Amino acid sequence: MKVLIVGAGGREHALAWKCARASRVAEVLVAPGNAGTATEPKVRNVEAAAEDIAALVDLAQRERVALTIVGPEAPLVAGIVDAFAAAGLKCFGPRQAAARLEGSKAFAKEFLRRHGIPTARSATFTRATLAADWVRSQRMPLVVKASGLAAGKGVVIAASAAEALSATEAMFAGQFGAAGREVVIEEFLPGEEASFIVMADGANILPLATSQDHKRLSDGDRGPNTGGMGAYSPAPLVTPALHERIMREVIGPAIRGLAADGLPYTGFLYAGLMIAPDGTPNVLEFNCRLGDPETQPILMRLKSDLTVLCEAALAGRLDTASAQWDPRAALGVVMAAAGYPEAPRRGDPIEGLAAAARLPGKIFHAGTRLASGTVCTDGGRVLCAVGLGGTVADAQREAYALVDAVHWPGVQFRRDIGYRAVSRESAD
Ligand code: AMP
Repeated sequence: MKVLIVGAGGREHALAWKCARASRVAEVLVAPGNAGTATEPKVRNVEAAAEDIAALVDLAQRERVALTIVGPEAPLVAGIVDAFAAAGLKCFGPRQAAARLEGSKAFAKEFLRRHGIPTARSATFTRATLAADWVRSQRMPLVVKASGLAAGKGVVIAASAAEALSATEAMFAGQFGAAGREVVIEEFLPGEEASFIVMADGANILPLATSQDHKRLSDGDRGPNTGGMGAYSPAPLVTPALHERIMREVIGPAIRGLAADGLPYTGFLYAGLMIAPDGTPNVLEFNCRLGDPETQPILMRLKSDLTVLCEAALAGRLDTASAQWDPRAALGVVMAAAGYPEAPRRGDPIEGLAAAARLPGKIFHAGTRLASGTVCTDGGRVLCAVGLGGTVADAQREAYALVDAVHWPGVQFRRDIGYRAVSRESAD
């Protein structure tokens, strides 16, 4: 069979690599892909933008693609699954109406409240309804969020009411374009963050291995927020008891609630959670797709054929499927371009990839491009080096051996990915 992966990042390289390893998969197409997918065995890049749904339908029909897996949120929120279904094509992901869970934080908050799923108290405003008195009457800090898709940038933690109001006004004034037409303001929740990702078929749920990411640019979780500087799986924070609680209080009610609301959810569902000191799993956000960089370590551990799982979900038979996991830990370190996250520099030649390819572990490409045979930087997050090991500490060592083999001018990466898990391990 032929598989199509939509997207161009590290998550999509990992999806393409994973699907290509299945013996029943003859070829994986990636639209548009990167330099990593261009050189992966059994994988071919195709020139089509991830947002060009008509071109992707056309491509899937022309190439007789049996299964499409969508990486990023934008095409899902724009209705790619509906367009593929209308053309009789199998595409794994939620339909447009269900993808609103990520596309509109205002919608997600209302959904969470209605279904009794734990989340921060919040209010949603438009320019016309902004209530400065309400904001001033709240405990600080407050978290101000552009409701629409803002590429992970539309969240401001405000220490004072004045800061919250000016962040809100900036969003209404167009700082994040149409994403800021509605603004959600919510209470700040203390705790530790965890990502929880499942596959769903409308009714049945298959949880993926647990993971945790690091959003801040610098060591010690300091500096500006980024798309993610590294991730590891499993996340020791998510104990079996917490896993059970998240399924019971968050994921189960969400999938049942969507079905009850007439929006049955098929696809990957990612819950960004803040685990409160008392263990309550509060939902910070839903994503209607896999996380990046969480996908890279998660798929390094998946032993089952992902295409079989996706097809089972599309057939509504996820209750008969199971996923086998490598018991080892996997840890991915993101290597980012000079200037990331504000103004990443493109075009820096990357050295050492051939030497790194001889080491254990795997480097997934994200923002890379082949320029006359040389792999160059072509985006903010450039590579994700993933190691495996008996412990998170061992996986960390393997990942950093890969990182140390690769270089380009101005490369940025954290030295401490997984530090919380490593210290939990040494405490045990
Ligand atoms: P979101 O896109 O909603 O997940 O927010 C991005 C990041 O902002 C999260 O990963 C958290 O680190 C932080 N954040 C969001 N909402 C809250 C909240 N209510 N309390 C504390 N931190 C938050």
